Amino acid sequence: MAFDAQKLAVPGVRGLRPYVPGKPIEELEREYGVTNAIKLASNENPLGASPKALAAAQAALPEMARYPDGGGFALKRALAEKLGVRENQITLGNGSSDILEFTVRAFVTAADEVIFSQHAFALYPIVTQMAGARGVEVPAREWGHDLAAMRAAITPRTRLVFIANPNNPTGTWLRRAALNDFLESVPASVIVVVDEAYFEFVRDRDYPNTVEWLERYPNLVCARTFSKIHGLAALRVGYGVSSPDIAELLNRVRPPFNVNHIAQVAAVAALADVTHTEKSNKVNAEGLVQLVKGFEKLALSYIPSVGNFVCVEVGDAKRVYEQLLRSGVIVRPVANYGMPRHLRISVGLPEENERFLRALEMAIGRQ
Ligand code: PMP
Repeated sequence: MAFDAQKLAVPGVRGLRPYVPGKPIEELEREYGVTNAIKLASNENPLGASPKALAAAQAALPEMARYPDGGGFALKRALAEKLGVRENQITLGNGSSDILEFTVRAFVTAADEVIFSQHAFALYPIVTQMAGARGVEVPAREWGHDLAAMRAAITPRTRLVFIANPNNPTGTWLRRAALNDFLESVPASVIVVVDEAYFEFVRDRDYPNTVEWLERYPNLVCARTFSKIHGLAALRVGYGVSSPDIAELLNRVRPPFNVNHIAQVAAVAALADVTHTEKSNKVNAEGLVQLVKGFEKLALSYIPSVGNFVCVEVGDAKRVYEQLLRSGVIVRPVANYGMPRHLRISVGLPEENERFLRALEMAIGRQ
């Protein structure tokens, strides 16, 4: 009998379409024969990691023959101290992607519903589908989460809600009062995951510190990462902060050595290097201004963002994306997010932003 792996796969996986990452620089250079390509496509830190994190990682390399600390003791202690929570409220992830997946694994069955917004981060429907659960996509409002509509979408079958704040790819964000009202209105039987991968970049004074709310909302999970402002994307380390009861369950589904030793020591050093995070925040804020000024000069509309990326409306985004690739500039198409007229640009160094803007001007034929 013929072997058919598709038939054997669990129903959720059978219908799964995998996450599409940004194009790697090496691939572009190989395919298009260009050199000196720049990548503004995956919301990475253009300054790289903190030199202290790099030194800590290098110093830890000789220990690679040993398993990492499965409990992540030192990193949890550093996070607990920094955030003013207890170690038993933290779950470590191989990136914050792990945290998103663990919450679904721990709480969602195929009979349940998971709510997320239109144009929200692509992993939410993917991890939902993996569990064979029904994903409920709520139409966005002005590109952002419509919390009233998301609240109205909650049914007795709803087990989990994903909220990205700020959201990727739109860069939209929710303010303290709105998010608090939402959490207040959600039944305690629904887990709310607030994905804060980019929280360190946000400068709005009304942006909430959700970790302070954990005492009030035992159904809340804050997911955060070292991939963005800390510049450790390749090492894969993120964390969830929640009530101890939720953390205990998330840690049950967590593979024992999901965060490697090099990542753990680098993350501890990165967390302590406030100078580097402040500098990264500043470079990002200035880069965002540089990009939107460039868009305004080209009369292109964009979605105001508080992240380290911004979406600009270019019309035929596929064509402009291809044209930019030929100039050696990788950005991110967002058609798979239901945004076929936009491109998402990660903020780079000033000279990278400038090079992108020049290439964009040529690509849209306004030079
Ligand atoms: N959440 C959001 C909103 C993101 O944009 C990303 C990365 N693109 C992640 C989570 C996951 O990042 P990581 O797994 O590297 O922590």
